[in-house]
Amino acid sequence: MQKTLNSLKIEFNSFSYFYRIILSILIIVSLIIFIWNVCVYKIIGTSFKADHSHFKTLSLSISLPLDSEPIETENSVIEEDLPKDEFDNDIPNEIETHDYIVSSGDTLSNILNQYGIEIADIRQLVKSDPHLYNLKIGQKFSWTLNNASRLQSVTWERSRRESRRYDRVQDRFKLSVLLKTGKWQRDRLTVIVNGSFIRSAKLAGLSNSEITEVIKSLQWQIDFRKLRDGDDFRVLIMREILDGQRQQSELIGVRLSSSGKNYYAIRASDGKFYDRSGSGLNSGFMRFPTVRRYRISSQFDPRRANPVTGRIAPHKGVDFAVPIGTPILSIGDGEVMVSKCSSTAGNYVAIRHGRQYMTRYMHLKTLLVKPGDRVKRGQCIAFSGNTGRSTGPHVHFEIWINNHAVNPLTARLPCMKGITGEARRHYLDKVNKTIMQFKNR
Ligand SMILES: [Zn+2]
Repeated sequence: MQKTLNSLKIEFNSFSYFYRIILSILIIVSLIIFIWNVCVYKIIGTSFKADHSHFKTLSLSISLPLDSEPIETENSVIEEDLPKDEFDNDIPNEIETHDYIVSSGDTLSNILNQYGIEIADIRQLVKSDPHLYNLKIGQKFSWTLNNASRLQSVTWERSRRESRRYDRVQDRFKLSVLLKTGKWQRDRLTVIVNGSFIRSAKLAGLSNSEITEVIKSLQWQIDFRKLRDGDDFRVLIMREILDGQRQQSELIGVRLSSSGKNYYAIRASDGKFYDRSGSGLNSGFMRFPTVRRYRISSQFDPRRANPVTGRIAPHKGVDFAVPIGTPILSIGDGEVMVSKCSSTAGNYVAIRHGRQYMTRYMHLKTLLVKPGDRVKRGQCIAFSGNTGRSTGPHVHFEIWINNHAVNPLTARLPCMKGITGEARRHYLDKVNKTIMQFKNR
């Protein structure tokens, strides 16, 4: 070691004064850059969290190349409106209510958590009513949020006869049980499309929420923007009537006859709609927009406060630290709504899946699709980049359900498996009976 240093010293002294100065400056600058990279850059990147997993990433990433690590991804809110098509403008404007049908494996916390609802609020709800531990498949939840995305009220439809409502009173929730004493009746309506589907459906006697249900039930089979005059919908519906007034309703099934073909959507006991064979209606979704999973550099947070102004600056998606040029994949089958450059989102793509789901991919480098393109699940739609309001290479990824941003890491994406076994036998029985009723004049 001593020998090497001595020979280096002799070498160094043999240079002219000018070259010695240049060499010294170069060495000092390299040292500064090295120290900056190892200490400052990484510590900012991991935001000083002192749990073990972060120490692990810290020590690990020192030995890894650093070029794909963003220090901080976006410094402000991305103000890109959700794209709408002509059909959206027609859809009845329901109040800001979100709903969800309980599927197998659901708990109250995984239902509400995907919307970024605080765990403390979920705990308070269960405290107000321990029955909330026992959810049944097919039950419906709906809830409202205030402007700061905090939970205001929840409605749980336990059965056709009983629903429970939880209203926020300061930090707690107050329970009220509503027993329904109305009479349920079965109605059959016919909608013949003449101009707009929604207007035709209203004329035929369907309420706004019933129209929304019909659209949801058939969203994977037909494109509602491509209906033609004369297309014929048969709608079977259960309605609760109290004192001559309609209280609520439940869609049983729909048949659409269009261009000589019939399309069916019939409710199964799990509360979901399937076609007449009980098979799944789309190919499902992938969890991540990339082939493999990358480090998350910024989490979904609808209540994120801007560290400088203290104002709420929601982060409506998840940031993945992907190196520039990574293939970005559509997580499901769908139609490209937007593929363009914006000052905040950079090059970005928005894809609609059915009528309820939308995904957005931002800060991309190269766009490979254009508006109107149909894409398949797993199709490469772009290469990632560092465009728009972004200070490091990453992809910002969003999932929207019914015009509401949800946490892409926990979102309950529709499971499109068909029905099997005993449940399928029951379902096919119901299908036969329901189809008979569509035929009856
Ligand atoms: Zn982001």
